Amino acid sequence: MTYQNYSLKQLQQIDAAHHLHPFTDHKELREAGSRIITHANGPFIYDADGTEILDGMAGLWCVNVGYGRDELAEAAYAQMKELPYYNSFFKCSTPTPVLLSKKLAELAPKGVAQVFYGSSGSEANDTALRLVRHFWALEGKPEKNRIISRKMGYHGSTIAGTSLGGMDLMHKQLGGAVPNIVHVMMPYAYELALPGESDHDFGLRAAKAVEDAILEAGADKVAAFIGEPVMGAGGVKIPPMSYWPEVQCICRKYDVLLMLDEVITGYGRTGEWFAAQTFGIEPDTITTAKALTSGYQPLSALLVGDRIAATLVEKGGEFYHGYTYSGHPVACAVALKNLEIMEREGLVDRVKNDTGPYFAQALQERIAGHDLVGEVRSIGLMGAIEIVKDKVTKERFLPAGSAAVTVRDHAIAQGLMLRATGDTMILSPPLIWTRETIDMACARIAKALDLAQADLRKK
Ligand code: PMP
Repeated sequence: MTYQNYSLKQLQQIDAAHHLHPFTDHKELREAGSRIITHANGPFIYDADGTEILDGMAGLWCVNVGYGRDELAEAAYAQMKELPYYNSFFKCSTPTPVLLSKKLAELAPKGVAQVFYGSSGSEANDTALRLVRHFWALEGKPEKNRIISRKMGYHGSTIAGTSLGGMDLMHKQLGGAVPNIVHVMMPYAYELALPGESDHDFGLRAAKAVEDAILEAGADKVAAFIGEPVMGAGGVKIPPMSYWPEVQCICRKYDVLLMLDEVITGYGRTGEWFAAQTFGIEPDTITTAKALTSGYQPLSALLVGDRIAATLVEKGGEFYHGYTYSGHPVACAVALKNLEIMEREGLVDRVKNDTGPYFAQALQERIAGHDLVGEVRSIGLMGAIEIVKDKVTKERFLPAGSAAVTVRDHAIAQGLMLRATGDTMILSPPLIWTRETIDMACARIAKALDLAQADLRKK
């Protein structure tokens, strides 16, 4: 690899001169320079200085089988030699997307057995949005096209993804959202539950917001509701168990399609293949990406339920939509091998029965008691730590977000990569983490909290 001919400083200078990073304040980054990650193995990433960092985020919620899997590299190499690319337009197909579709139909929740491919979660959500509107048009109800989503939801960075998402700062830069998308309250009990309101009741109340939005528009105007089963980028917000079954009930009552965005939760993160199974619901579409290939190749799969698929087939007519790389043979070969590894190593079961419960217990016993921590929560191998100034009143430090960044920076210095969203610390490690890795992570978090507390006191 030719980068070895460059010093770290040179790489940083070239990066600053030519590379515009995602979700970045470019002025700030150019002043600071970027951290250059050069290689990785198992649960660890290494920067250009050779520093070893435990990756608490699985890259960006994606490297579920961990780094350094020769089998995935070999699958890509073999497929590139045999057939590096051919499209799936014009009544053509290639073997790997065919076989991957079969595999995904086996793993998916009941009633979901068709797949539309893209290269990213954002693309898959664009597809999902267009598909559900196309569905209602085919059903003779083109005016049933409103989508209900949630505040603080994240559904990607394309125009459609940003419009579906509920991030105000992103909307401000949009210059015109896709029309007819509305956002309702999120199921975030820590901040939104009323005093004395049980988790169960709060979940039902948050679901009721979906019903209110349907009634406000009129059910004949509402195409679908979309949500992440667990809100990821918005802060690992885990809904009460009462929420999703109630949302599903409401959607069925008004004949509104249920769309799940499982770009983060898909492929084992919550201890089932899909969070739809964790929450016991049967959606009409499931958006997936990231861990489908464990991030080794860019690939997304929109899983489509029987009802929508049946209408597409029965009514016919072209769906004018698709990407050059829909069903990319190499990406699909890697996905097949990735799912094979996950099955062979029993990673999903391990999260459900061993590491997930251990992770929850470790966070409760070793982190929740810290003065800076308002709440810890987790589901499977996905967790959050709320950083507060006052545990009882839940008062936050000012300026908003600064305390979490302080904790994050100390955590990285302690050798643990995690993420700060607002004042919430987020963890989403590779599913290969063992009890020992969880112990290591908790020790580093506890140390980072202590150091951050000392800094914050000084301020
Ligand atoms: N949906 C969700 C729930 C996500 O978390 C993300 C990415 N973090 C996306 C969609 C967009 O995926 P991508 O970045 O691959 O476009």
